[in-house]
Amino acid sequence: MNLLGLEPTALSAYFAGRGDKPFRARQVSRWIHQRFVDHVGAMTDLGKALRESLARDAAIQGPAVIRDTTAADGTRKWLLDAGNGNAVEAVYIPEDDRGTLCVSSQAGCALDCAFCATGKQGFNRNLTTAEIVGQLWHANRALLADEQGRPPITNVVMMGMGEPLANFDHVVPALRLMLDDNAYGLSRRRVTLSTSGLVPWIDRLREECPVALAVSLHAPNDALRDRLVPINRKHPLAELMAACLRYLPAAPRDFVTFEYVMLDGVNDSASHAAELVSLVRHVPCKMNLIPFNPFPGTQFRTSPRARILDFQRRLADAGLVATVRKTRGDDIAAACGQLAGQIKDRTTRRLATRIVPVAAPR
Ligand code: SAH
Ligand code: SF4
Repeated sequence: MNLLGLEPTALSAYFAGRGDKPFRARQVSRWIHQRFVDHVGAMTDLGKALRESLARDAAIQGPAVIRDTTAADGTRKWLLDAGNGNAVEAVYIPEDDRGTLCVSSQAGCALDCAFCATGKQGFNRNLTTAEIVGQLWHANRALLADEQGRPPITNVVMMGMGEPLANFDHVVPALRLMLDDNAYGLSRRRVTLSTSGLVPWIDRLREECPVALAVSLHAPNDALRDRLVPINRKHPLAELMAACLRYLPAAPRDFVTFEYVMLDGVNDSASHAAELVSLVRHVPCKMNLIPFNPFPGTQFRTSPRARILDFQRRLADAGLVATVRKTRGDDIAAACGQLAGQIKDRTTRRLATRIVPVAAPR
C-alpha cells in the first residue's frame, strides 16, 4: 500500500482495517505530508512493533525524478517518471509573498487544444492520486532541503500537463489532501483548478470539492473556440458560462478566473475584446491574459505587447478586472503550455479522445 496516495478517509479506513487506533491516521498523515518522510522507520512516535508491521505492509513511494532544472528567474521544473518512457512535469514558481506549485494531472492530454504543447504530445494515461499529490510532497521536500524552515509551497495550481477534470477520480482525493489540516492544510482559495471546460465535471467539482476555479476560455465565440479548444464542440460557451454561474455560490472566491491566451491575429482584435466583454457580462470574473508561449512546431505567434495591453485596456474600460500573466521559466520550457514531459507510448490516445469528452459523471 502506498500511503502517499490515500486521502484522509482512505487512510483512516486503512488503519481501521488493520485494527489500529483511529488517531494513527492523523499521526502518519502528518509525518508524510508535513514532515515529508519517505519511510515508516522515521516515524519515531509510533512504537517499534507498529513501525515494523507497517513497514511490512506499506510504503511511501514518491515520484522518481528524471531531471531537475532551475530557470534564470528561480522557476524550477522537475521531470518525473510516469513509467513506460512517459514523464510529467511539475513547476515551482517563487514570488515574494508566496510559492506556487503547478501540478500535472495526466501524462499528456487528449483534448488537443491547438496552441498547447501538452495537447500536441497526445495522451498516455491518468496519473494516480499518489502521483498527483506526490508532486507537492516532492517539491516541499526538495525545497525544504535547500532552504530549511516552513513548507515553501503556499499555493497550488492544477495547471500543469493534462485536463484535471478528465481525471476526476484521482484529482479530487489529491485536492482533499492538499486541503486537509493533517496534510498540507492549504485553504480552498489557495488551490486553483484550471479546466478547458468539461461542464458536467465542473458541477461535480462544485458538489465534492469546490476549490478556486479557472476556466480556459481563449475565444469569445463558438466558431473560434471550436477551433482552438475542441472540447467546445461538445460543451459550447453558453453551457460553460452557465456552469460557471452555478459554481460560484460554492466557490471559495466570488469570481471565476478566465484564462485567455493571446494569439497574434487569431483572437486578439478590438472586436474580439468587445465580444468577450459581452460574453462574460453576467459572470463575476477576472480575466487573466496569457501571452502565448511558443514551442517547437507551433504555427502560432504571441500577440505583440502593445496589442495585449490594448486588449487589456478595452476589458478594463468595460469594467472587467484584467491582468496579464507574467511569463515565468520560459528559458527552461516551464511556462504555460510548454510542458511536454515526454510521451513515448501514445497507444491509448485514440481511445481516450473518444472517451474523455463524452464521459459524463455518474
Ligand atoms: N488542461 C487545463 C489545465 C492545464 S493548461 C486547461 O486547459 O485549463 C493551463 C493553462 O495554460 C490553460 O489556460 C491553457 O490553455 C494555457 N496554455 C496552453 N498552452 C499554452 C501556450 N502555448 N501558451 C500560453 N498558455 C497556454
Ligand atoms: Fe489539455 Fe489544457 Fe493543453 Fe488543452 S490546454 S490540450 S486541455 S492541457
